[in-house]
Amino acid sequence: MLDVAAPYYEPVGHECELFEYAFHQKLPLLLKGPTGCGKTRFVSHMAARLGLPLQTVACHDDLTASDLTGRFLLQGGETVWTDGPLTRAVRNGGLCYLDEVVEARKDVTVVMHPLTDDRRVLPLDRTGELLEAPDDFMLVASYNPGYQHVLKSLKPSTRQRFIALELGFPPPEQELKILIRESGLPREKATALINLANRLRELKGQDLEEGVSTRLLVYCGRLIQAGMPILQSARAALVEPLSDDEDVRDGLMETISATFG
Ligand code: ADP
Repeated sequence: MLDVAAPYYEPVGHECELFEYAFHQKLPLLLKGPTGCGKTRFVSHMAARLGLPLQTVACHDDLTASDLTGRFLLQGGETVWTDGPLTRAVRNGGLCYLDEVVEARKDVTVVMHPLTDDRRVLPLDRTGELLEAPDDFMLVASYNPGYQHVLKSLKPSTRQRFIALELGFPPPEQELKILIRESGLPREKATALINLANRLRELKGQDLEEGVSTRLLVYCGRLIQAGMPILQSARAALVEPLSDDEDVRDGLMETISATFG
């Protein structure tokens, strides 16, 4: 059942099928990949395709378990329990997507554990409830293995509770389709931009932590399509966001000018 309102997502392999299998088999899914490669778009596409409500949580280092499960809030002089996004998805069914899960604090992983094995339960200590996840509940988490350092990596005991899928930047043919569709750029200009992105990506590792993302390419395409000169667009969307080092930025601009100048 393909919902016509599903946000546009260009598959790069069999990820949509894998997602559907995981959903029907009630398996939690871990998406690995660099920022801006389409993980969030993929999840919202699949949620719409499966007709499921989606709760998205952007994890950060202050995020605690109660931000996910809920808390008692003062309402008109009374304290009332308010479900957090994870509890809402467990109570009512649907997808809960924890974006950048490694950023979250340790107590968050503890909450995930009983939900990610065959118990599929969420204990709420504060209300004394033990919620059983309905058949249409699914937990999806993502992280960027590129950013990992010793203090922030997913523990094997957590990773091994998920099936996992690696999403990289789309191959040129698919990325071209995405760029054209998302920015409105004509094919010829979009092709030149994709070639440039792949040249810039080859520089990754030398001085750059991350390569140009599909998201940044789309931003660049939108600026160009709106009439901004190409070199200015490329500086704003492809160079400045990638590095604060002047020499690195000069090097990137050189490559760009050699292509478009
Ligand atoms: P992530 O969650 O991995 O950081 P996003 O899902 O936010 O990345 O993707 C960033 C942007 O890149 C999207 O808004 C979309 O414009 C584009 N994009 C990347 N991959 C795809 C894809 N496979 N299909 C459609 N759009 C994509």
